[in-house]
Amino acid sequence: MSTYKIALLDGDGIGPEIMAEAVKILKLVEERNDVIFDLVHTPFGASAWFETGSSYPDESKKVTDEADAILKGPIGLSHEESKKIPVDEQPERGALLPMRRRYNTYANFRPVYLPKGLVHFSPLKPEVIGDGIDIMMIRELVGGLYFGNKETGINEDGRRYVNESLEYNEDQIKRIMKVAFKTAMKRKKVLHNIHKSNVLKSSVLWNEVMEEVHADFPEVEVVNILVDAAATYLCLNPDMFDTMVMENMFGDILSDQGGGILGSLGLMPSACVGDKKAYYEPSHGSAPDIAGKNIANPYSMIGSVAMMLDISFDMEEESKKVWNAMQSVFADGFSTPDLSKEGSGVTMISTSDFGSKVAEALSKI
Ligand code: NAD
Repeated sequence: MSTYKIALLDGDGIGPEIMAEAVKILKLVEERNDVIFDLVHTPFGASAWFETGSSYPDESKKVTDEADAILKGPIGLSHEESKKIPVDEQPERGALLPMRRRYNTYANFRPVYLPKGLVHFSPLKPEVIGDGIDIMMIRELVGGLYFGNKETGINEDGRRYVNESLEYNEDQIKRIMKVAFKTAMKRKKVLHNIHKSNVLKSSVLWNEVMEEVHADFPEVEVVNILVDAAATYLCLNPDMFDTMVMENMFGDILSDQGGGILGSLGLMPSACVGDKKAYYEPSHGSAPDIAGKNIANPYSMIGSVAMMLDISFDMEEESKKVWNAMQSVFADGFSTPDLSKEGSGVTMISTSDFGSKVAEALSKI
């Protein structure tokens, strides 16, 4: 019997609601398998700041340090509410980036997936989608503009200024490229390399290192594409993409567009993987506009559990079953309101009912 300690960071906004559904599934997985999950909730994000004066308190660092894997709910507040917290303690700067740095979780996997039977969820026309959408976006997560030097001040002319730098070294690029090529090898052996080398020197180095790593994976076809063009093609022809690799900020933006072409950010789970530790989180934010209403889509959070089972606990078969259970709830005609548009014939259910239906479906698989 294996025992795994999982740190649960409920987060803010819809975080606790969708985390409750993820826990439902973890408990069921535990019942069905030779495994014990030691689940430890710990504060993180804006709620942690209001509770303890720190967005990532020492107590939580201890829990995440000791955990075999971390499951994180979304963090953050509305634009106006955020101003109640000092700039450097606001959830992303005070908690999320420090956790990514602490565990060096450089490889972020963001599946953008919609099977053919569910194309009615997407705002794209069925003829644009074709056989469904199945893209693995790989985002470098601990470098680039988000982690570069940041400086603000008053310049010689007495004007306020800001200077943020986009920094990468070749080792950082090499390791994410290796992850991307290995992933492409397991999929369709086509890698879309997203860059902006016509403007950014960082992209010139990015592409150089990509070509060096490519030499070790000759079977993979590389398609180089500018990030702005990639944004367009995601809408016009998503089928042309299979595995995509990109630097941190490009990945942040394009993966939200991924949620857009699926029909909801609630369909976007993710895995953030380092050499020694991984954490799992929905790609989206805390959705303050729908928090506390029991209407958020927990797919992104339950999907993050499925990724955890596969990547951190070597439970690939059970992971597939969790994905299948979620898809079967959709196939039975149920969804949370984000995906049940008027006239779509979909029956609208709550966050907690969606989680319960996934659990019911899983228990039958
Ligand atoms: P958001 O991702 O929270 O929401 C954008 C839109 O998507 C909203 O209309 C929201 O209702 C909807 N949405 C998101 N998740 C959903 C779900 N599971 N089910 C149904 N609908 C869903 O983006 P935002 O409003 O720009 O940001 C809110 C806060 O989240 C901000 O403070 C931001 O900084 C933070 N944020 C955190 C993370 C993270 O924790 N990794 C990521 C992105 C944004």
